[in-house]
Amino acid sequence: MTRNEIISHLKQTPLNQLMRQADRVRQQHVGDDVHIRGIIEFSNYCCRHCLYCGLRKENKDIERYRMQPEEIIHLALDIARQGVKTIVLQSGDDFAYSAKTIASIVREIKQEADVAITLSLGERDFADYESWRKAGADRYLMKHETANPTLYARLHPGKTLKERLSALAFLQELGYEIGLGCMVGLPGQTLEDLAEDILLVHRFQADMAGIGPFLPQKDTPLGGHPPGDLTLTIKVLALVRLISKDIHLPATTATATIDPEHGVIQALKAGANVIMPDFTPQNYSQNYAIYNNKARVTLDLTRRLISKAGRNIGKGKGGSLKCKRPQRD
Ligand code: SAH
Repeated sequence: MTRNEIISHLKQTPLNQLMRQADRVRQQHVGDDVHIRGIIEFSNYCCRHCLYCGLRKENKDIERYRMQPEEIIHLALDIARQGVKTIVLQSGDDFAYSAKTIASIVREIKQEADVAITLSLGERDFADYESWRKAGADRYLMKHETANPTLYARLHPGKTLKERLSALAFLQELGYEIGLGCMVGLPGQTLEDLAEDILLVHRFQADMAGIGPFLPQKDTPLGGHPPGDLTLTIKVLALVRLISKDIHLPATTATATIDPEHGVIQALKAGANVIMPDFTPQNYSQNYAIYNNKARVTLDLTRRLISKAGRNIGKGKGGSLKCKRPQRD
């Protein structure tokens, strides 16, 4: 699909039509399983200044927390005992956890449980990524946020899209399965930008893509902007499925925040095949305030929604479905 065709779908094609097509491609290429990834948001400290995110360093209105390594490991093993086969460890860009500490957390979880580990710790030294891969980390989730370099630079003071993409390319070279993704409805974002997001995910041969609406967070510079539109978000999701056929696509928590039942079910019917329930202890997670009123997607809710959508719970780790990964261009 060309950029112009994508733009015209975003503009004109009825949502139902895109959803039907995406659902068929999802069924053919990744089947009826929905993979469950248990997420632990283990620290909300962050050294970055992202204009949209409540964890930004400048935000003095949230209480900061850090989970201890033992606490993270203990919780991860508990999640594994509940039958969840992928553990996602996410945090702000928090350098208080040394590369060694993260590596030992990964190593211990991998020793004790038969799970895949996804790290989502933002931008770190390339040597850190290497040591975590050696310790057994399987996947790395780092959304590209927006494929428009000018918008990217405006939203991320002091950072560039180019840096983020070279980190992702390096992670891929290390053998991580990688997740990209963008927000939909960012202030200043155009349909042309979204078409570039969809094409970038494809060009990168990403194993996963997290697509969610932008949601305002009251204590950030973008707190007064309207949230991204659910219909447009679902259209982007459907187009990612139509173009990157065998990719893993979560029904994101941001989508659930706009509408907990309907949003997730719509995503599952528009190509999504992953849900990431939150296992962060609630006294912490209330402060993982990336945006306002973040929905609490529990394991129970996840199971209920999968069954409501007429789908199966994935039994395995739900690794990359790409049998071979051609070189990126
Ligand atoms: N520090 C890690 C994790 C960031 S938080 C990293 O840089 O990758 C995880 C995701 O939350 C981000 O990638 C971003 O897409 C999303 N997010 C943050 N603030 C948001 C907002 N206001 N609206 C929607 N999504 C947001």
